Amino acid sequence: MIIRSPRKTEKGFLVDMHIHSHFSSDSFLRFEEILLEAAFTINGIVITDHDIIGSFHLDKNTIEKEHEIVVFAPAVEISSTEGHILAYGIASVPSRELEPEEVLRIIHDEKGLAVAAHPFSELGVGDLVYDLPFDAIEINGARPASDNQKAKEAATLLELPMVGGSDAHIHGEIASCVTQFRKKIQTMDELIAEVKKGRCQPLMLR
Ligand SMILES: [Zn+2]
Ligand SMILES: [Zn+2]
Repeated sequence: MIIRSPRKTEKGFLVDMHIHSHFSSDSFLRFEEILLEAAFTINGIVITDHDIIGSFHLDKNTIEKEHEIVVFAPAVEISSTEGHILAYGIASVPSRELEPEEVLRIIHDEKGLAVAAHPFSELGVGDLVYDLPFDAIEINGARPASDNQKAKEAATLLELPMVGGSDAHIHGEIASCVTQFRKKIQTMDELIAEVKKGRCQPLMLR
């Protein structure tokens, strides 16, 4: 059965770039729940588990046939010594507790996209966004507006693109914040290219 929603076409191509599945120790979301909830309102998802690529356990082709949603993979949320870093398009996970400089070097060596996750929350890299070569700054659906305002100011000052993700860990949180792309995209390579060109923006859906 394919689940269709007329709401999906109204706002361009929407991707939640930050979702935790049960492969993260602090998430309760099974893949099936994530897909059902996301397919109702948005066009694509990225599973970004903590220090593990949970999406390796997903059958991407079957899912996309059954749910009318694109799963962009691989991606991971890396715990660096100074805070969380989202990595898109890297196929292996760096060992835990590396300095953020080293994490960014590994991501860029693999031609991946390095994003400062919720930079101004207690688990973010904070002012290091001003010193390190991030490709984009995240606006995060689970954080207060004040944190996101600081992230927006940093992105503006650094002239970096912004992406949006829900950071969902439980049912009901998926797609609270998403990335709005200007065109339909199908692969992680396309997603990375569009973000690097700045052809996207974060969008709070609730
Ligand atoms: Zn995080
Ligand atoms: Zn997260």
